[in-house]
Amino acid sequence: MSNIQHILKQIRNLYPEFRQYHWDNSGIQIQLKNQIHTIALSLDITLETVEEAINKGAQIIISHHPLFFKPTKNLINHTNDGAIAIKCIQNNISLYSMHTSYDNNPFGMGYFGLQAFGIKDIKPLKEIGSTTLAKVVVFCPNTHSDKLIETLATAGAGSIGNYSHCHFTTEGCGSFMPLEGAKPYIGKIRQKESVNEQRIEMIFPIDKKGDIVQAIMRTHPYETPAYDIYKLENKIDSWGCGAIGKHPTSLNKQQLLTCIKSFFGDDPEKVYGNIDKPIQKIGFVGGAGTDFIKDAVRAKCDIYITGEIRYHDLEYARNSNTAIIQMGHGVSERAPFYACAKNIADATQCKVIICEDKFEFF
Ligand SMILES: [Zn+2]
Repeated sequence: MSNIQHILKQIRNLYPEFRQYHWDNSGIQIQLKNQIHTIALSLDITLETVEEAINKGAQIIISHHPLFFKPTKNLINHTNDGAIAIKCIQNNISLYSMHTSYDNNPFGMGYFGLQAFGIKDIKPLKEIGSTTLAKVVVFCPNTHSDKLIETLATAGAGSIGNYSHCHFTTEGCGSFMPLEGAKPYIGKIRQKESVNEQRIEMIFPIDKKGDIVQAIMRTHPYETPAYDIYKLENKIDSWGCGAIGKHPTSLNKQQLLTCIKSFFGDDPEKVYGNIDKPIQKIGFVGGAGTDFIKDAVRAKCDIYITGEIRYHDLEYARNSNTAIIQMGHGVSERAPFYACAKNIADATQCKVIICEDKFEFF
């Protein structure tokens, strides 16, 4: 059982909201002051999924598609959005949506979609950005340096590849003179003081800067800790829309269709082009991925799998070796969205249930 602020913090850590498109409304839709022990995942928000979440004892629904896109001027109980929002509020259910913040995450929609084919080395199909690193340098008395390093590591510093707690320390002497009004941990007012200190250096993703500063303030024994933060040129975790990757060997048509059926739970709606060939390089965008056909063709994908294709966008794939597989919007997103359940359960320590929605507009 945790309060909602803690749950939201964990979800935003996993799938930061800054990665969403400018036109999107990923994030909190309805925030109530509730304690959470069960989270319901649902691709869409419908009255049926809210009902299911209530019956299964959830206190928050995390959906993929947001309930609110345009500015809402009123909540009226006989409109779709109004009825859903009112039902959530009456039943003390908060609502959070991670739409394109999940689509554009390096371990989100595209990643899980390609994992289903046994692909390990997965990159974004269309790169939008990457995470810039920063370095924190903090000066700490020797007596407290281990504790501070541990707190900084927990806040997200010192993570390099498969290694955590990476730090560099040098010993030196820190000097200061407390002035009137100070409450020094060591030393007296108007007397120079020198302390054996360590200079601790750790890198961290720049979007965790707030957590890093908070960690210093919480753990450092001094009233006014001395620290520097440097922005680095180093980047990690390129992120963007969809995913692309190469199968370690290749798949034949039957293997491909079996993977599709077992992961997405359905057969393709339509196949354009030739899939009777060894298939190694696969591109995937969940949902409305028609705009990324040209990226898949340019990257020489053997096949490109997505939810929806506009007829005229098939032109980009004509005369190329990229076959196009259309799954249907909801079918292409449902399994890769629900694949986040374990990560959310691990991060929040809550029970996570999956709504059995089979909602399709048509
Ligand atoms: Zn969608």
